[in-house]
Amino acid sequence: MYKVHTHIKSPNYGERSLNTSLEFLIMHYTACDLKTSLKVLTDPETAHPVSAHYLVDENGEVYRLVDEQHRAWHAGKSAWRGLTDINSRSIGIEIVNLGQGTEYRPFPSAQMESIAHLSKEIIARHRIPSCHVLGHSDIAPGRKIDPGPLFNWRWLACQGVGIYPDIGQEIKGNSTGIDVGRIQHLLAQYGYDTPLTGILDTGTQAVIQAFLMHFYPESLGREADSEFLRRLEILQSYSENSRGIIHK
Ligand SMILES: [Zn+2]
Repeated sequence: MYKVHTHIKSPNYGERSLNTSLEFLIMHYTACDLKTSLKVLTDPETAHPVSAHYLVDENGEVYRLVDEQHRAWHAGKSAWRGLTDINSRSIGIEIVNLGQGTEYRPFPSAQMESIAHLSKEIIARHRIPSCHVLGHSDIAPGRKIDPGPLFNWRWLACQGVGIYPDIGQEIKGNSTGIDVGRIQHLLAQYGYDTPLTGILDTGTQAVIQAFLMHFYPESLGREADSEFLRRLEILQSYSENSRGIIHK
C-alpha cells in the first residue's frame, strides 16, 4: 500500500543554507511507535526540536511532515566526504521501528515497499547519486546507530535505491594481515568521517561498526574477516552511473 498523508505538518524546519545542494537521502528509525513518532517529529516545544520530511509507518503509510524544499532537522552533527550541514543537503526519511534493543524487529515488507517507492521518486526528483543514499549511522558514526543492521539495504539496492556490494560466494574469513591504515584510508575515501591514525582507536571502531551495519550486517558480532575488506574495495569501484548491486 502506498498512501501519502499530508494533513499533519511539522513546524520544525528552516531554510536550506545557500551554497549547498540537495544531494543526500538519509534513512532513520524513530525508536518509538507511530503515535509517539508523530508527536516527537512535530513538537516545537522540546529542548531540541526534530523533524524529517517523511515518516513511514509499519503498514506502509507515508506522512509528509515537511515540504522537500525546506531544511528538516534530522541529521544533527554529521558529515560525509568532508561535507557538513547534511540537513541543508538532504531529504530525511524517518521509519517507524522500535529500535535496537529487545524490541528491535525486521522492517515489514509493506513498509520497505513504501520506502523504495518514495525513495525512487525523491532520487529522480533531485538526481541524488546512489552512493548518497545513506543511514544516519553512516553520517554520524559513534553517535547514531539507526536504521541498524535489520534494515535491508541489499533489498533496497535491488529496487534501484542505493548501492550494495555483492561479493558472490562468501569468503571464509582470515583476519591476518588486515592493515588498519588501509582500512581507514578506504573508509575515508568512500565518505566516512574516519580518523587517519593508523591504529584501531575508538573512532575507527565506530566507523567500522557503521560500515558493517550498512554493508555487511551478517558479520556483526563476529571477528573482522577479509570479506569486510573486499566489500569495502568493491564499493570504491563505484562510479556515478552505478545503481543497485555492484558485482565484481
Ligand atoms: Zn536518526
